[in-house]
Amino acid sequence: MKYEVVIGLEVHAQLKTQSKIFCSCSTEFGRPPNDNTCPICLGMPGVLPVLNKKVVEFAIKACLATHCEVQPMSRFARKNYFYPDLPKGYQISQYELPIGLNGYINIQTNGTPKKIGLTRIHLEEDAGKSIHGENLGMPGRSYVDYNRTGVPLIEIVSEPDLRSPAEAREYLVQLKAILDYAEVSDVNMEEGSLRCDANVSLRPVGQKEFGTRTELKNINSFKFVQKALEYEIERQAKVLDQGEAVVQETRLYDSDKGITFSMRSKEEAHDYRYFPEPDLVPIACDKVWIDEVQQSLPEMPEQKRDRFVSDYKIPEYDAGVLTTSKALADYFETCVKQFNQPKIISNWIMGDLLRELKNDNKEIDDCPVAPGQLTDLLKLIDDGTISGKMAKTVFEDMYRSGKPPAEIVKEKGLTQITDESALTKMVEDVIAANPGQAADFKNGKDKLMGFFVGQVMKASKGQANPALVNKLIKEKLSS
Ligand code: ADP
Ligand code: MG
Ligand code: ZN
Repeated sequence: MKYEVVIGLEVHAQLKTQSKIFCSCSTEFGRPPNDNTCPICLGMPGVLPVLNKKVVEFAIKACLATHCEVQPMSRFARKNYFYPDLPKGYQISQYELPIGLNGYINIQTNGTPKKIGLTRIHLEEDAGKSIHGENLGMPGRSYVDYNRTGVPLIEIVSEPDLRSPAEAREYLVQLKAILDYAEVSDVNMEEGSLRCDANVSLRPVGQKEFGTRTELKNINSFKFVQKALEYEIERQAKVLDQGEAVVQETRLYDSDKGITFSMRSKEEAHDYRYFPEPDLVPIACDKVWIDEVQQSLPEMPEQKRDRFVSDYKIPEYDAGVLTTSKALADYFETCVKQFNQPKIISNWIMGDLLRELKNDNKEIDDCPVAPGQLTDLLKLIDDGTISGKMAKTVFEDMYRSGKPPAEIVKEKGLTQITDESALTKMVEDVIAANPGQAADFKNGKDKLMGFFVGQVMKASKGQANPALVNKLIKEKLSS
């Protein structure tokens, strides 16, 4: 490709306070429409906003966790636009004085570390939600649910430092983990507590100036961020190849069709007629408060990853996967306490466990297999009761039924054959049935080992102890 890709992300994260940013309404998700509302969040005339202190604390925490400088003085501003889900006719946001500036997030793609700059973090209130009748079987009507109006958000704006869709995805994975560990957001993309707009442009390789960008909105999963960007990059490359100019605009991603399409021309800051919010005093964050919040920050994903590598001697890659969420890291550590074989546990979590969860669209919090059940299974392999292969079957059953592994082993009669005389008989039968291969093996064709092991395993219906079978075959064929 003769173009270089330039990407910058704007991520909105809902802060997990119990009440909204400027009133005492609940932020609970999934309530009946318009249940969580009052005159303030409905934008009635004459009401005044009162800032929720916890919101500021969470924003400070998010800034510190992403190495942003918390500003001693920041200020709210009105962003004016009309839309039915915005009853006041303006959104209270921050503009020229945001709460955090100049941060960064470390990412790694294919083992190469890279620092992605954060331009700013600012506070704002969420808007409501329009629900169109088409989706409710009532075409021609539209409804508005104001439950979300006034829910606290932070917007995290990255520098245009990302150079590929894969980097953009990795950035999101890390950012999500950081906000999760800092316990400031539920970071649930499906419930909309984490939302991402992606800005992307192309420039000829070697050119210094950035090209014209488009902004992609409404992308509701990490996978779709990557897919939307890939599509958009190809589209822009075609436009440029034809000698035409990319139009600066906001585009939507249609995940069913896998395409982006124009929504509106890009609005400029002056279109919003920003001005300082006259109903709220500026926010002052003094050093004492910032230090206090700093003290409350728990171990962050990067630190945990490094600790996993040094304490448990697992590869950096494993540690990276295991620390993508705090719950997953906790799951791993609980297992290790019960069965001190970190790499074996890591393999099972990264392989079988995460695969099942992914198939079911479940998070580790909803995992039907408790850490103690997984380690009980691993202990059965360790003491030779079952083979690693049988354990896979037991695991699947355990995941579905929630039964303890020992019970499943008993029910299925899955115990391993470790009786040496029984196995010797099987090995001898297999050798007798395959005299040609046996002769070749004796003449140095070592590769046939796999063939003989396979035959014995088949004869034993998978129940023979593989290590023992190996040993016996070697003995019989070298004599
Ligand atoms: P707005 O608020 O209008 O969307 P910003 O200046 O805040 O605009 O930038 C939004 C995002 O766009 C930032 O993440 C920034 O890194 C990114 N960005 C800016 N210019 C470009 C560009 N030419 N190509 C790709 N991304 C860009
Ligand atoms: Mg934007
Ligand atoms: Zn309210």
